[in-house]
Amino acid sequence: MPASTVASAPLSPRQILDRLVKFPTVSRDTNLPLVDWVEEYLAGHGIQSHRHYNEDGTKAALFAHAGPWEEGAVVLSGHTDVVPVDGQHWTSDPWTVTERDGRLYGRGTCDMKGFDALAIWALVEAHRRGVNRPLQIALSYDEEVGCTGAPPMIAAMQGVLPKGAAAIIGEPSTMKVINGHKGGTGFHVHVKGFEVHSSLLPYGVSAIMEGARLIQWANDRNAMIQAQPRAPQALAFDPPFTTLHVGMISGGTAHNITAADCRFALEMRVVPGEDLEAHAQAFIVEVARLDAAMKQLRPEAGIHLDRFFGVPALTPEREGEAEAICRRLTGDNATGVVSYGTEAGQFQEAGYSAAICGPGDIAQAHQADEWLSLAEFEAGHRFMQRLLDELSR
Ligand SMILES: [Zn+2]
Repeated sequence: MPASTVASAPLSPRQILDRLVKFPTVSRDTNLPLVDWVEEYLAGHGIQSHRHYNEDGTKAALFAHAGPWEEGAVVLSGHTDVVPVDGQHWTSDPWTVTERDGRLYGRGTCDMKGFDALAIWALVEAHRRGVNRPLQIALSYDEEVGCTGAPPMIAAMQGVLPKGAAAIIGEPSTMKVINGHKGGTGFHVHVKGFEVHSSLLPYGVSAIMEGARLIQWANDRNAMIQAQPRAPQALAFDPPFTTLHVGMISGGTAHNITAADCRFALEMRVVPGEDLEAHAQAFIVEVARLDAAMKQLRPEAGIHLDRFFGVPALTPEREGEAEAICRRLTGDNATGVVSYGTEAGQFQEAGYSAAICGPGDIAQAHQADEWLSLAEFEAGHRFMQRLLDELSR
């Protein structure tokens, strides 16, 4: 049998998953070997892929279309990157899918190469069957470092493929239908002070004490937010309001020197219905006010802001198509919200109906010995089979 005939036999979802996990696509590293493999695999089954590279060309998103060349596709969206395994104790090789006790162990099996494998499988099937409604897949990079890869990918997709209508983001939800999550943004804050001996306090600027003002601003804002009536769109969340949080801080050199530097990270988790940018702007305005006051005393002092992520909320849709499809295919009539950010909000912002539904439990994501249960993977497979039936109608 010639090699090409062997290569053209479609792989099972499990076989695809085995291949995907073999690529150690930690967010800081390239994902191109994985993208090469997917592209070649799809090409071997008559499907053309498209790439969108990051700025330095070290990573790429891949998207592809099957079925009639027309608008209205269902889009299966996943990310290719995974979190590192550094410092984690693994029982088996994280880069090999190991099956034991009804579970598939390996980095990314749950978050979210299990879904990626199912999506690739479904796309090939859609092409083989000749569906009546198109199916697209969109595999991004840099999801785990703040969902920064999806917006340029979505823009590139819309320039190349007929516009899709409903995006299913397969983050682990134990195949439950999720129609909302909070938005979020974060700032690295670097407060620069001016060092003097602490006995001369009024002539120096303590970066720590100025930084404390910004942190207190966040405390005050939390109190103000919590004193306000709850927005109806926020009631499904726990807690049902926007929160601001400082998770780490460093600075200073000695108890008797005004600190030259103070660094901290501030994040905001914003409920749907509230303007993420308005919250971010309020902070930026406060920083500018304090920066000016510090410079009055010492022109060398000041505050530098570096915004390191910004993810729009997924707002529950009225009669949303993505949610309706997921409910039909899973039989799950309840809908829920999650507390983690995903690319779903970015698809929604770009004009797609969007919902989250994927195999696995988020509790297993990012852990040592990450696993996806075979039962969940099979539920995901059934979901794809039903989706193909629906697209074939
Ligand atoms: Zn994920």
